[in-house]
Amino acid sequence: MSKSRFQTPRGTRDILAPETDHIRFLLRNFEDLLLASGYGQIISPIFEDIGVFQRIGESTEIVTKEMFDFFDKDAKNPQHLALRPELTASICRAFAQHRPITPWKVWYMGPQFRYEKPQAGRYRQFLQVGAEVLGTPDSAADVEIISLAWSFFKDIGLKKTKLLVNSLGDTKSRNLYNDELIKYLDTRKEDLSKQSLITFDKNPLRVLDSKRDEDQEIIEEAPLMESFLSEESAQHFSEVKEGLQTIGVPFEISPRLVRGLDYYTRTTFEFISPSLDTAQNAIGGGGRYDGLVETLGGPPTEGIGFALGIDRTLLACAAEDTILDSASGIDVFVVDTAGGQEALLITEELRKLRIRSDRSFDNRSMKAQMKAADRSGAAYAIIIGTDELEKKQVTLRDLRGEGKQTLIPRETIGNNLLTILKEK
Ligand code: AMP
Repeated sequence: MSKSRFQTPRGTRDILAPETDHIRFLLRNFEDLLLASGYGQIISPIFEDIGVFQRIGESTEIVTKEMFDFFDKDAKNPQHLALRPELTASICRAFAQHRPITPWKVWYMGPQFRYEKPQAGRYRQFLQVGAEVLGTPDSAADVEIISLAWSFFKDIGLKKTKLLVNSLGDTKSRNLYNDELIKYLDTRKEDLSKQSLITFDKNPLRVLDSKRDEDQEIIEEAPLMESFLSEESAQHFSEVKEGLQTIGVPFEISPRLVRGLDYYTRTTFEFISPSLDTAQNAIGGGGRYDGLVETLGGPPTEGIGFALGIDRTLLACAAEDTILDSASGIDVFVVDTAGGQEALLITEELRKLRIRSDRSFDNRSMKAQMKAADRSGAAYAIIIGTDELEKKQVTLRDLRGEGKQTLIPRETIGNNLLTILKEK
């Protein structure tokens, strides 16, 4: 096959059935779970003023290198916009703009955009689902948020997911730790990777987030954050751990988990799929960001949330052989050799009853239509020739079994099929 002139841009892909069926299954599960937990959906713009995302942090690569940004067409005063690389900043912008009653519990799903180096499980456009609770410092909100993400992975059938948690403490404890970390990293500067040296200058904490081999030993030996937590932060963290234990969510403490974004305070967490390649094995993560709304011009407001990567979750499901019940395909194929009007009428009638049905076009031969019926995967064919049309009947043929055929009155098709399909 010769290559067509236009291809999807680098790092993006067309997702087709049956993969889209699997995605729908994941999204439906997520939506049901969040609606059962008192969260309302938010649909925000795919692009925002670039300033919204710059608040994520000056030292994160998402902001410095990976933004898809552009100017709009206003000749006098063009606005600098960017495609969203994540949704927490947009949600905090929305909170500052609308000032909803707190706690504000929201969920979302949608594509995000990052100009990353594409590889398996890393795309320039990818799908995330997520949830946020704004307006409470209560550790119970942290527990609720973490347990929702955990339940999602469990509900869809993933068995090997690992949950890592940590606390970065409040500003005071973070500063104390930061000073100590600077002292330590200063002694190991020679051995740090080039990239981590740059990160060290901008935000030492983020060095702990490096996945580069040459940094691993240095990170392993770094001082532990937990010993620098203030009394309040330590108390908050132990409440989170206790809450998770109370509802039976298993977790591991990961003392150096800082995550890729600068805005986190106190609780941070990550979900890992051990079945995936280590470089891309994070299937979700999140944390507290008690200062973000304020930096976006809103009142001081606490917040906690998570984002889960749907593309990677699908890869994890494939790696674990998880069966995703996608319920796609059709039940009935209408074969009409009497001119096509019956195919039109019957599919219309069945679809109104939500019986999944399809038909052929182009007045094809009986043989060609039967072939299409077989290929469609339908369990039944309804066959109408001139004979059936005259007698106001149709032939119902079982396509899966031994090809049993029965004649049924034309006007009972809908009810008949509803009963048969329900029994199956
Ligand atoms: P983050 O917003 O970086 O915390 O990402 C949350 C989740 O989104 C990650 O755990 C991944 O599963 C997913 N994710 C992040 N970046 C990408 C990407 N470039 N391609 C695919 N999935 C991604």
